[in-house]
This record gives sequence, structure tokens and C-alpha cells, in this order.
Amino acid sequence: MKRVAVIGAGVVGVASAYLLCRAGYAVTLVDRNHGPALGTSRANGAQLSYAYGDALGSPSLLRHLPEILMGRDPAYRVRLQADPEFLIWGLRLLAECLPARSLANTRHLLGLASATRRLLEDVLAEFDLSFDYQVSGKMILYSTAKAFESGANVHRLKQSMGIRQEVLDRDEATAIEPALALYPDPIGRVVYSPDDPAGRPDRFCAGLVDGLVRRYGLQTVFGEEVRGIRSLKGQVTGLSFATREPLDCDLVVMTTGGGLDLLPRGDRPFASIWPVQGYSMTARASASAMRVSITDLKRKLVFARLGADVRIAGLADIGVKRLRFSGGRFVTFRSASIEAFGGTFDHGADDVSPWSGARPCTPSSRPIIRPGHLKGLYLNLGHGTLGWTLCLGSAQYLLDLVTAGQGG
Ligand SMILES: Cc1cc2nc3c(=O)[nH]c(=O)nc-3n(C[C@H](O)[C@H](O)[C@H](O)COP(=O)(O)OP(=O)(O)OC[C@H]3O[C@@H](n4cnc5c(N)ncnc54)[C@H](O)[C@@H]3O)c2cc1C
Repeated sequence: MKRVAVIGAGVVGVASAYLLCRAGYAVTLVDRNHGPALGTSRANGAQLSYAYGDALGSPSLLRHLPEILMGRDPAYRVRLQADPEFLIWGLRLLAECLPARSLANTRHLLGLASATRRLLEDVLAEFDLSFDYQVSGKMILYSTAKAFESGANVHRLKQSMGIRQEVLDRDEATAIEPALALYPDPIGRVVYSPDDPAGRPDRFCAGLVDGLVRRYGLQTVFGEEVRGIRSLKGQVTGLSFATREPLDCDLVVMTTGGGLDLLPRGDRPFASIWPVQGYSMTARASASAMRVSITDLKRKLVFARLGADVRIAGLADIGVKRLRFSGGRFVTFRSASIEAFGGTFDHGADDVSPWSGARPCTPSSRPIIRPGHLKGLYLNLGHGTLGWTLCLGSAQYLLDLVTAGQGG
């Protein structure tokens, strides 16, 4: 039985470990944190956006760029860096905003998302997981009909792919989700995807890791930083750690999000992943809380119902490489959330659990899933704004590469 070490126990690593275990590999899941999903996967927007899947680089981003660069859109903050890697990443992101490129990227992401949907059914049939999972549907709020029309080609693409979405007016949408009555601004159109679920990624990962340990003998090494990938004659032989003895293995899968330090410069995809920092908060749901997940495009906020709680996520801070919780940015985020749907959750300063994470974004929004510079090394990185939605689809793509590389 081939031994695989998966570095990184976020949603992508745990999903990869699941499919590798199921395919008969002896898997060890490794993370520097003391458990799974304590990085970017911890408290994200919780939405499995199968019908959204839109690439970050889009004509709409391009149109808003002057506003964003002048600091007039509070949802975005761009800190220009004199770092060639950042500048090239930024230029590549702009190139991906061209309509044809953006549409092709979105199509690719929707394909991965649709694979996640199928595979999640397998996971749920095999394991009894408790992660406040609910197929609650998702609504995207456009302030005007014109704003919706400007992205209508993406809507048409989704229809051509058989994705179920309805375009509603405010009254029709409010009949389905009464919390929309609380929204203070005009709503021109609502795109409703009834099949999109939400669920807590951290609990999903914790439950699935437990299940994999019991059913497939998954090994875990938590609380240990990987310092290097060991090799002999160009073939992977194991991992070395900061404080622990090395781990022998035949294959290594890197699911470190945006962490590329373990790769030599020559194999590090240059200007391919840059962190885009966001914030979330989780608060007790009020009696009028939404059931359906809601995306407020005006404020770039997402709201999801998770059992007795509401999870809100948003903001996109681009430029700073190191994750740092900014109290000022959190205040901006919290105020915008209260302005939009304050009536749906308890929002006293002590009532909310604040969090921040960095989305590992590629310019095209497509994750990097490919073999590495060593025989037996594979990368599954850069899932950006959609890692929860793409995790199982990406893991399947990875597994196909691994089995092909092993002559399987
Ligand atoms: C505010 C916000 C809202 C979001 N909302 C959504 C949403 O609603 N839906 C959605 O689909 N996506 C969402 N995302 C995106 C999603 O959270 C990410 O794409 C996803 O979590 C990335 O998962 P990952 O497993 O690749 O990375 P991570 O979760 O960061 O996992 C990588 C792991 O690798 C470990 N690691 C790295 N280097 C080493 C090393 N050398 N040794 C040992 N361990 C190492 C880290 O400790 C970490 O645990 C959101 C993100 C943010 C920030």
C-alpha cells in the first residue's frame, strides 16, 4: 500500500485525505496546528456556493477598479506594494477580468463545484457528520435590474450548464425569505439558487478526520511544522519536521493553501497566489434570522444560517502578505453587517465571535492542482474565495493525477 503524506489539514487537505483513503492509500495528515481546519478554513462564509462559483477577476471588478483604488469601496482595500511578485500577480488578475477569460474561469470553477456536490453526498452517506449542514438555498441581491443585466452572460452560462437558478423580484424573493423585508436598500433583482447548502467547515473537517481515523486508519500528525520534503534521486521519500523525527512516505500532497515555502524557488509558481484577507463573525440568530444564505452585493457581505447562529463574512484586503487582525477593518465590517441585516442577529460587541482569514487567491481563481518538481509530489493549492465549495472536486482532480502518476 502506497504511503501518502498530506501537508495541511484545511478543507482541501481533509477532502484530499478522504479520497486518497477511499482509493486505498495509507494516508498521514499533517498540520502545524493542533487540529484540522484551524487556518483559513476555520470560520469562513460557510457557503457551499455550487451555483455561484464566479471567478474573482471579472468585468465587474475591472469596472469598480478606480473606485476601489481610490478607497471609495469599503469592502476592498488595496495596499500597493513595491514587490514585483505582487505587481505581476495584480496585472495577471487584471488580465483575467477580460470577459472571455472570466467566463472560462467561472466555467472551470463551476465544474469543480459540481463535483464537490456529488462527492459530498458520498461523504454524508458514509459518515454521520454534524456541521449544521442545511440545503437552505442562496440569494444574491442586485441593487438594480441593470446591475443584474451587466452580468447576465454568467447567468446564461450557468443555465447552459444545467444549474438551477431563478431570477426574482423583491416581493417574490421576500415570499421565500422573509428576512429580506429588513434590508434597508432597494433590491432590483434577486438570483435564487435553491440547491446551495451551507455548513460549518471546521466541524465538517473535525468530524471527517475522526471518521477517517476509525474507518480507514488515517494517521494524523498535528502540532508539527513541516520543514522540508525529503527526496532521493528526484523521488519523494518523506517529510522532515522542526521538532519531530522524519516521516517516511512514497507520495506527498501539499494542501497548504497559500503556503509555498516548502517548494524550491524553481518550482514555486511565481506571482500565482496572493492572500486576500477577509473577516467573519458568528452571532446568535434572532427570531427573524434568515434561513436562506444571502449575498449582499452592494456591501460584498455573505450571510449564512448555521443552526442557532448566523455567520457573516466579507471584506477583501489585498496587498499585505502577512495576516493581521485589524480592529478598524473589523469595525467597518461589523457596521456594514448591522446596516444590512442587523435585525437578524445579536450584534452587541460581546455577542459576536470575530475572525479573520486570508484567501489564497490565484489570478484566474483556478486552484493549482498539478505534480511538483519531485516524482511523487503533488500540489493542491490556491483555492481563493471558494475553497469550501471546491474542496472535494479539487481532491478528485488531484486523485486522478496521483493514480495516473502511479500507473493506476
Ligand atoms: C472571510 C472568508 C470567507 C470565505 N467564505 C467562503 C465561503 O463562503 N465559501 C467557500 O467556498 N470558501 C470561502 N472562503 C475561502 C475558503 O475559506 C478557503 O479557500 C479555504 O479555507 C482554503 O482551504 P485550504 O485547505 O486550502 O487552506 P487552509 O485552511 O489555510 O489550510 C492549509 C493548512 O496548511 C497548514 N500548513 C501550511 N504550511 C504548513 C507547514 N509547513 N507544516 C504544517 N502545516 C502547514 C496550515 O496550518 C493550514 O491549516 C472564505 C475565506 C475567507 C477568508
